[in-house]
Amino acid sequence: MAGPTFAFFEGRIVPYAQAHVGMLNHTLNYGTGVFGGLRAYWNETRAQLYLFRPLDHFRRFIESSRLLNMQLPYDGADLLRHTVELLRAEEHKADMYIRPLAYFAEEMIGVRLHDLQARVAIVAVPFGRYLEHEEGAHATISSWRRVDDNSIPARGKITGSYVNSALIKTDALRSGYDEAIVLNSDGHVTEGSAENFFMVRHGELITPPITDNILEGITRRTLMTLARDDLGLTVVERPIDRTEVYLAEEAFFCGTGVQIAAITRIDHRPLGEGRMGPVVTRLRDLYFQVVRGGEAKYSSWLTPVYDVERIAARA
Ligand code: PMP
Repeated sequence: MAGPTFAFFEGRIVPYAQAHVGMLNHTLNYGTGVFGGLRAYWNETRAQLYLFRPLDHFRRFIESSRLLNMQLPYDGADLLRHTVELLRAEEHKADMYIRPLAYFAEEMIGVRLHDLQARVAIVAVPFGRYLEHEEGAHATISSWRRVDDNSIPARGKITGSYVNSALIKTDALRSGYDEAIVLNSDGHVTEGSAENFFMVRHGELITPPITDNILEGITRRTLMTLARDDLGLTVVERPIDRTEVYLAEEAFFCGTGVQIAAITRIDHRPLGEGRMGPVVTRLRDLYFQVVRGGEAKYSSWLTPVYDVERIAARA
């Protein structure tokens, strides 16, 4: 997959190779950064690239930065403008992943969160699948526990807390699974290493509450809306016990990167029929319609990136 050509760095678009921090950078050493992860979807028929819910992503990004006492030099509208500029510079006619990162610029010894300068960089790359087996993932219950709100808040995307995700993911992959479901210190289900979790049980769509130490996921919120308003499903937020997931009719991971990945086996136990079920199938179909601009009702979630007339004039 092609790497980035440009980056938004120190207030402007520069060649990617010029976007650097030093070895003593505070965030590199102490994990004191926050990041985001957005997607933009290419619509071939309209020759348009659509950013999905960018202002919701940037609101979480800014809220995550507040958890680390960061004062970002931009608001959501600025971040959206710079993201659009960057995507226009990259000029891809493909699905893109966008990574904003807020970091402390200082190069120094000393861990703290106050009296530091926050900066923002943004990079965008063409991006396809995140999980290989999106239509039938085999998940395990991780032996690791999800970071607790009183240790590192899971509701925000804090770089340091992804050590937890990395420990979870590597052990799952090395044991032959596609992903892991992670429990919190109470033993309740939280989410995957970098995805929110849903299950279908007795026909209801169930997902853990934010207070069980999960990321405030934007795809999770999107799917709760689609499931209720378009598929007429009952959606319940409540704590989930470990053994309940073994009894689920269907389950899936969701997130910007993973999109929607059906979990068809957990710890070698097949769920339902052991293949992608009807609820996951319908939600996935609808989600992909929505993100590519196929559902007028949800067009307010999309920001078109390209100036179509300008592109057509050049073709
Ligand atoms: N949980 C974690 C830990 C994540 O890293 C992600 C990816 N951002 C998600 C859930 C899904 O969040 P979203 O739908 O906002 O991408």
